[in-house]
Amino acid sequence: MTERLEADAAGIAQAAAVLRKGGLVAFPTETVYGLGALATDDAAIARLFAAKGRPAHNPLILHVARPALAHEFAAFDARAERLAAAFWPGPLTLVLPLRREAGIAHAATAGLDTVAVRVPRHPTAVELLEAVGGPVAAPSANRSGRVSPTTAAHVLADVDGRIDLVLDAGPVEVGIESTVLDLSRVDARILRPGSITRAAIEAIIGPLDAGETAADEPLRSPGLLARHYAPKTPLRLDAVSVAEDEALLAFGPRPLEGAGWTLNLSPTGDLEEAARNLYAMLRELDAVGARRIAVMRLPEGGLGEALGDRLRRAATA
Ligand code: AMP
Ligand code: MG
Repeated sequence: MTERLEADAAGIAQAAAVLRKGGLVAFPTETVYGLGALATDDAAIARLFAAKGRPAHNPLILHVARPALAHEFAAFDARAERLAAAFWPGPLTLVLPLRREAGIAHAATAGLDTVAVRVPRHPTAVELLEAVGGPVAAPSANRSGRVSPTTAAHVLADVDGRIDLVLDAGPVEVGIESTVLDLSRVDARILRPGSITRAAIEAIIGPLDAGETAADEPLRSPGLLARHYAPKTPLRLDAVSVAEDEALLAFGPRPLEGAGWTLNLSPTGDLEEAARNLYAMLRELDAVGARRIAVMRLPEGGLGEALGDRLRRAATA
């Protein structure tokens, strides 16, 4: 059984103690619920990969309470400093050269000579990380390949009995995973789009490598598998009509008519609201017994890039 604790001072203190001893703790960040393990503890990291069923070649993001703690194991250049100043705490992950002497578990970086790091802004995450003191690896708290959790109930639906405890602070704020930016080479590149947009990053460090995200280049970011974030029911994107045995994931003020079940990501057409609702609504529609989930087209720019990325992965059979 996995213990579920309120994210109050006592709950956070207990969770920090479990992490320091090498246990597994799910906790809220502003993006999704993460599954934490102490990044300097080889056995804890091995347990984390096992609990998620995560392939060993998929490296983890390390979370710290303050930027100064990231400098202990990651090498920052001027671009990294400027981005950290602009967006931390917040949902931007930087991939930087690893300082090997820092003692990060080999498995946490999947043996790479780079490391992914971020400073989250959710108050529970910040307090927990501050209490732990060291870096905590925290991928999304779901079984590998499944939809990321945005509530403690989602966490338990996926990994109950496989982790020690979950800190419950209610639904998260952003709803999709952090933007991952690779700064380990001269050409900065987005490996995974998120709510910190391409335009916001370019405003700080200038033009990014034009290309696509790294889904088509697995060695650059081993975790960016084409199929990910996926419900069990097949997904059909850019629907312009819908059948009675289909569930509809709608967007905007004019949802298609005729579906057996409909949920609307944002009746007002607000992309931030859509991001917050995306995973919970995919889970809900996955459970209704529809033949397929039809998804209406979303706008493409800004946060639409991240939403489109998650939907395309969820639709990849
Ligand atoms: P998750 O923790 O499941 O949200 O995924 C973390 C993402 O960050 C995955 O797509 C990883 O491939 C990526 N990532 C983590 N560490 C690195 C790294 N050192 N180099 C490139 N990508 C990384
Ligand atoms: Mg994940």
